Amino acid sequence: MTEVYRNYVAGQWVDCKSRKTFPNTNPANTAETLGHFQASGAEDAQAACEAAAKAQPAWAAAPAPRRGEFLFKAAELLESRLQKVSEEMTREEGKTLPEAKGEVKRAINILRYFGGEGARQFSYQIPSEREKVFCYTLRKPLGVVALITPWNFPSAIPAWKMAPALVAGNTVVMKPASLAPLSAYRIVEALHEAGIPAGVVNYVTGAGGAVGNALVEHPAVRAVSFTGSCEVGNALYEKVTRRRVRVQLEMGGKNPTVVLKDADLDYAADVLVNGAFFSTGQKCTACSRAIIEKSVYESLLEKLVAKTRKLKVGNGLEPGVEIGPAVDAAQLETDLKYIEIAKNEGAKLVCGGKRLTGGIYDLGYFIEPTIFAGVTPGMRIAQEEVFGPVLGLLVTNDFDDAMRLANGVRFGLSASIVSRDLTRVHEFINRIEAGLITINLPTAGVEYQLPFGGTKESSFGMREQGPAALDFYTETRTVYMRYAQ
Ligand code: NAP
Repeated sequence: MTEVYRNYVAGQWVDCKSRKTFPNTNPANTAETLGHFQASGAEDAQAACEAAAKAQPAWAAAPAPRRGEFLFKAAELLESRLQKVSEEMTREEGKTLPEAKGEVKRAINILRYFGGEGARQFSYQIPSEREKVFCYTLRKPLGVVALITPWNFPSAIPAWKMAPALVAGNTVVMKPASLAPLSAYRIVEALHEAGIPAGVVNYVTGAGGAVGNALVEHPAVRAVSFTGSCEVGNALYEKVTRRRVRVQLEMGGKNPTVVLKDADLDYAADVLVNGAFFSTGQKCTACSRAIIEKSVYESLLEKLVAKTRKLKVGNGLEPGVEIGPAVDAAQLETDLKYIEIAKNEGAKLVCGGKRLTGGIYDLGYFIEPTIFAGVTPGMRIAQEEVFGPVLGLLVTNDFDDAMRLANGVRFGLSASIVSRDLTRVHEFINRIEAGLITINLPTAGVEYQLPFGGTKESSFGMREQGPAALDFYTETRTVYMRYAQ
């Protein structure tokens, strides 16, 4: 009998009203169930919103540094469980253990960073035009905030939404992805053990349609922070903006790495392999397009294929494994579907392309890291997000052409360039349409203390992480005070 994990509402661990549960399955070994989670419905989401609304005034009235102390304590608890929580993440999401450890460490850093923000919620004091008038701004929390997160960073994303929301004085209802709810559960558990007051944090699992919709439609909810697919994010936007609820959407990408002819090609191949294939390509910031200057295209292709063929795919708990499985059968099917589409559109398969079978591969959703050469900008593989380990190579004649290709998609999340040409690098920084720009680094790999978010159809609303995160979770009040009558 596997463990049953409960919702967390008003400071209590509770069953959902229907008493139904759903399993959390290991994508590297589908015979393993990590536990059962509550298959909540609208009523459970509403109860969580009501608990959050009740707790909010007292939480907002507490001094912000004291709110931060709960985050510090939760960070400490999570750190003491790093190994166990990381292993659980590998088992529920599939990423390798070193990647999972890195992510849990990041969640811990996020809790500490925003714990510190309790004593650092800067506002402005600005001179008045008038005599004896003193002007300044205050930050006020919004109220109840609904947080909806995807499966691919099941610890870091819940942490980077919960921590700034809480330290700013909001109360939260967290709805994690159904494919990986345990990692977020561990953060909520740590906050509970840290003694956070009842109702300040609420956690409700269940199908997005049922729980997510009820959350965003609850009248107490004043802001929604969503990370996930464009399809769901855009539909949520339509719903919540009608009620003038603040909304933040972080969604898909089709992120390019531009490789110029002066690049060290071994280094460029490493950057591409890391960006395209680590975490099985299941990062919103993963590289899915390599845009390569013609004169180095063939040599880079050769190096890239050689390095990719050496990648070890397997169960992420095994030492030496570099690439885990796809997260579930549906994602694997999507990856394979796009591989077929690319072949049919005339792209040339130069590496991978198949589901892995035999031995341990039959236990899970394993796929070969895949490279297509001869991709042209109009192909679907060059335009649509796959969210798997599939990289398309596009050839470019010159730098201007590279910029046209790089910007020629509806997304604008992350982008990178590999070059030592300072002028071109600066031109790239100025002209690229992406929220996250990296130079001589993979498109993926962000740090918690800097703002994060995209442009174009990848994102909407204010930035997450770093000092910018507090802007979303607070409202500015402006005070004019005449200190003489
Ligand atoms: P998804 O299907 O959109 O799900 C995201 C979250 O929304 C899940 O918690 C899901 O619940 C919930 N949901 C589903 N339908 C809903 C509805 N009708 N109302 C409210 N909530 C609903 O995305 P995903 O497959 O988990 O994640 C992959 C996507 O996330 C990719 O497109 C990726 O690029 C994007 N992503 C973006 C960023 C970024 O920062 N830009 C970061 C990571 C991932 P269930 O799990 O129960 O369906």
